[in-house]
Amino acid sequence: MTPTIVAEGLHKRYQKTVALDGFDLTVPAGIVHGLLGPNGAGKTTAVRILSTLLAFDAGRAEVAGADVTRDARTVRERIALTGQYAAVDDLLSGRQNLVLFGRLHGLRPGAAEQRADELLERFGLTEAAGRSAKDYSGGMRRRLDLASSLIRRPQVLFLDEPTTGLDPRSRNEVWQAVRGLVAEGTTVLLTTQYLEEADQLAERISVVDTGRVVAEGTPDELKSMLGADRLEVVVREAGRVVDAAGLISRITGGVPDVDTDQRRLRVPVIDRVAALTAVVHGLQEAGITVADIGVHRPTLDEAFLHLTGKVEVAA
Ligand code: ATP
Repeated sequence: MTPTIVAEGLHKRYQKTVALDGFDLTVPAGIVHGLLGPNGAGKTTAVRILSTLLAFDAGRAEVAGADVTRDARTVRERIALTGQYAAVDDLLSGRQNLVLFGRLHGLRPGAAEQRADELLERFGLTEAAGRSAKDYSGGMRRRLDLASSLIRRPQVLFLDEPTTGLDPRSRNEVWQAVRGLVAEGTTVLLTTQYLEEADQLAERISVVDTGRVVAEGTPDELKSMLGADRLEVVVREAGRVVDAAGLISRITGGVPDVDTDQRRLRVPVIDRVAALTAVVHGLQEAGITVADIGVHRPTLDEAFLHLTGKVEVAA
């Protein structure tokens, strides 16, 4: 099947700054694909090029079956772009906002009203439909903004940091709305600074750094690029830390990192269940009391830091 978004070798320079330096991306239809990267990595530049808003210096890009340069008009008809700055009119009600958008996009009054009602229902805004948008919560506004970008049923939605500034509850509401869109076949390119958001929503993630994609995969694949899970043991008595280190090393075959002050030992393990069971038994037999024990998967934060050497700061 032809991918819905293809970018090959995109280069873009702003005066002296190289914003994109061989950017490649392939996104199949019907998924959320995350673009994750530190500030200035080139995410916004890539999205602006793919949504036909910005010219580029070299490379090629196709979105929804049309070339973004040669056939920009077709691309525009098939996509929508929505971001953190809601394009909602405060003085109008939720429903009036959507009807207005429908009219602006050339729908007849009856069709605009029907589409508005469908979208209000889909985004859980039917009850609030008649209230003026200025009384909406942050999450409701963001959902209304999402709804307004879907008036024309785009094949591809560019979502730029959709939950920046929202509280956790509103963020969840927006996530639910995005999942609903994808279930209906819309392809979403999600730009986000929140690792958790990419982990929650994106089926695949491209990690962008200094204008190119430095890693690509499912959230789990990106995490496992970091390697093994880590077994972590905290022993009760400081005097037994050295014994515990020797024992854990014999059992797992790895050399544990030891934090003597915290009485904590960490070692990479391959089979998490086997290692945990063997270490618990071994420590018990040696009479070493355990204060805490567990196996930790590397987080997406750790994977990100590993891949880019930078810590992503949520705005
Ligand atoms: P953020 O997460 O902060 O939005 P980003 O990954 O979206 O960052 P871009 O906004 O694409 O990154 O910026 C890529 C590089 O290009 C940065 O170094 C930025 O300073 C530079 N840049 C972006 N827009 C312009 C512009 N209009 N003029 C000059 N330089 C620009």
